[in-house]
Amino acid sequence: MEDRFEEVSALFTKCFEHYYATQCQCAFPRYHQIISIDCVDTGDSFSCYETEMLIEMSKPYFDIQKGPKGHEGAHQVWTCRKCGSTYSYDWEDFSIHVSRVTMKATETKVAPIGKPAVKPIPLFLGLSGHSFPPQTEMVPVSYEDFEVYMLEL
Ligand SMILES: [Zn+2]
Repeated sequence: MEDRFEEVSALFTKCFEHYYATQCQCAFPRYHQIISIDCVDTGDSFSCYETEMLIEMSKPYFDIQKGPKGHEGAHQVWTCRKCGSTYSYDWEDFSIHVSRVTMKATETKVAPIGKPAVKPIPLFLGLSGHSFPPQTEMVPVSYEDFEVYMLEL
């Protein structure tokens, strides 16, 4: 299990190299797609490993403004250090086993240059939680297929 996470972590590092070779993550629809997976959208209760990891690994590329209360979690505004696009970051505890983290662009200042996002969303690590969306929304794939999707090969 451990190396599956290491594999994806290494892949996301490559993704950021790919994004910054041309612009920044904000110009890539598949980046937006993965960070914005949100169980509330389908009325379910799950968290997505790829979403959590990609948001966590995005931190160095953003200026993060914490919510008015200044506490960890809840609502934050993230601003891209390169292009100034803004995102709304939300974190919430659903239960002991499920927390929800999601990030959605509120203003994108660059035109998309990456390949379009595809549905169902291919996921390698996938979901954990209590109730899950149908496979028309998200579908488990092999590491190889996930890599091809994320690196837009
Ligand atoms: Zn940007």
